[in-house]
Amino acid sequence: MNQNVRLGRIAGIPVGVNWSIVVIFFLLAWELADLVLPGDHPRHAVALYWAVGGVATVLFFASLLAHEVSHAVVAKRNGIGVRRITLWLFGGVSELEKEALTPGADFRIAIAGPVTSFVLAGVYGVFGILLHAAAGAAGVIGSALGWLAWINLLLGAFNLMPAAPLDGGRVLRAALWRRSGDRVGAATTAAKAGEVFAYILVGLGVLEFLAVGVIGLWFVFLGWFLLTAARAEQSAVVMRSSLADVHVRDLMTKEPTTFSSSTTVAELIDHQLGHHRFSSYPLAGPDGQLEGLTTMGRLRHVPGHLRQTTRLIDTAAPLSDVPVADPGEPVPDLLQRMQTSPDGRALVIDGSHHLVGIVSPSDIARFMQLSMLQAQGRSERSS
Ligand SMILES: [Zn+2]
Repeated sequence: MNQNVRLGRIAGIPVGVNWSIVVIFFLLAWELADLVLPGDHPRHAVALYWAVGGVATVLFFASLLAHEVSHAVVAKRNGIGVRRITLWLFGGVSELEKEALTPGADFRIAIAGPVTSFVLAGVYGVFGILLHAAAGAAGVIGSALGWLAWINLLLGAFNLMPAAPLDGGRVLRAALWRRSGDRVGAATTAAKAGEVFAYILVGLGVLEFLAVGVIGLWFVFLGWFLLTAARAEQSAVVMRSSLADVHVRDLMTKEPTTFSSSTTVAELIDHQLGHHRFSSYPLAGPDGQLEGLTTMGRLRHVPGHLRQTTRLIDTAAPLSDVPVADPGEPVPDLLQRMQTSPDGRALVIDGSHHLVGIVSPSDIARFMQLSMLQAQGRSERSS
């Protein structure tokens, strides 16, 4: 996630933007300053079009942020923490720490975003209509407000498509979940609908690209992104359901070896790793206090000539970035936190603050393969 720039916090939630947003910013500002505004109100200074277009584009991103913040605020109100909000090429993403516990909460979190977009569309629309007929610069501002109204309306409507991972897909999931009581079934249907929708979007994008031009390509990419997301969601649903009754202590690597924070990378690689088969190294200070977690992947990034002088702690993720789990916690709750963590690993710490295990993606994969083999064995014996 290092292409992201932190902007600050809103309602206690870290907000960032991805560099990819710069592309969209210039496309939108250009569309306004060069096409929309001069089309509505010709014969003004070019600088005025760009100034109004630039401010309107900033307001558009503020609207996008308001959409995400409303998801996040409702999530928090329903007892679900929000890791961060990121704006990027295809809009905004709110990363929730876990899934909603009831269909009602699932619905409220999902619907909050589109409702905000519609309200903003209404507000911009009213001011746009009031100013539209005005002469001079006010008229130009009026048509920029009209554009903001339209784009928020489109944003709300597009997100309401009943296709996961869009908000409408979440609404669909909540509705099916409420009716059947089966959360996994509901989520699977919403993800499948997401896949179908993504294919339609890619198809339309290709047609648009062939008939009109470049805008179609953006739809193709958007469709592709949604397809990938819908598929990931589907496999996450399957994984979550098969791990639903499993606790962290059942699959963690127990009693991990801790390494000294001040050990150099060279010392670890040349003298210590020969005896171990791990790829995660919890680091402790001289007092035995945990200080961070480094991994084989992180050590690879240390150039050969710096290995003698780089300490392990210099390569580590700080403890605040590493998800911590309780041995008795259900695995699906932890999975969500692990997905958004920098190394995809979690430390397991017991009630008396002792490190008792590590969970890495390979622990989860091994556990799932083992339980599949066991299930296979059972079904062959019983058939
Ligand atoms: Zn949304």
